[in-house]
Amino acid sequence: FIQVYAEEIVHEGQPIGTILVFRDVTPETEVDRMKSELVSTVSHELRTPLSSIYGFTELMLKRDLGPDRSKRYLQTIHDESKRLTDLVSDFLNVQRMESGKQSYEKEVFNLLDVVKEQIQFHQATTEQHTLQLDADQGQTFLVEADRNSMRQLLGNLLNNAVKYSPDGGEIIIGLLEHDANIELSVRDFGVGIPVSSTPHLFSKFYRVDNSDSRKIGGTGLGLSICKEIVREHDGTIEVESVLGDGALFKVMLPNATKK
Ligand code: ADP
Repeated sequence: FIQVYAEEIVHEGQPIGTILVFRDVTPETEVDRMKSELVSTVSHELRTPLSSIYGFTELMLKRDLGPDRSKRYLQTIHDESKRLTDLVSDFLNVQRMESGKQSYEKEVFNLLDVVKEQIQFHQATTEQHTLQLDADQGQTFLVEADRNSMRQLLGNLLNNAVKYSPDGGEIIIGLLEHDANIELSVRDFGVGIPVSSTPHLFSKFYRVDNSDSRKIGGTGLGLSICKEIVREHDGTIEVESVLGDGALFKVMLPNATKK
């Protein structure tokens, strides 16, 4: 929100100009909005895994459970702890970015290397999905970027593609060289996104409010982190989706060959 204040300057009875003062009044309201979203996300997202960890450990301490049940409960405790760790690390990430404390070490490299590495890493976490690379592997896709940020960017997109395709299936990761840009895309065939949600998707804490998303769980921070990374690299990120038929996320980064 911008507040505009205008005053006409008059010299010896003649108007000689106008002073315009633009005051950005966004930060306060934005901080307030963030705070209330933070409170509601934290109360929901932290409470659920914590109460499940508490409940299962209590059961295990009080009762003599057989090895099968113990193992199942341990797995739940393990999964929920992972969720908590992810949540805390997302929060810290956003905070670091917002406060300008995040440093980016940019170098020119072939984005294909990070793409291959991330595909391998994420493929190892799922048997239900097939991660497929769609790129000319003889080609280089040069970007001037912070390598870790690129890992995080693609990592978040792949994480979502897996998460929001609960029935498994293909995930296609594309790399294309355009004249001025390198295009990185992630396509899945999962639950998809309602058109009414796409304008808000990259906002902090935004989650599509439907039963699919609620069941799947998350912080609503992953895509806002992606957006911030892309912005830092003078790129763009957009989404195309058909509800019930998956989503396509497209990132454009400046082509470093053209520099
Ligand atoms: P999170 O997944 O932790 O909720 P994100 O910021 O990564 O947060 O995503 C925001 C929301 O966008 C998600 O809650 C989900 O509703 C929707 N979304 C993101 N990626 C996908 C996808 N590949 N398919 C369907 N919905 C998605």
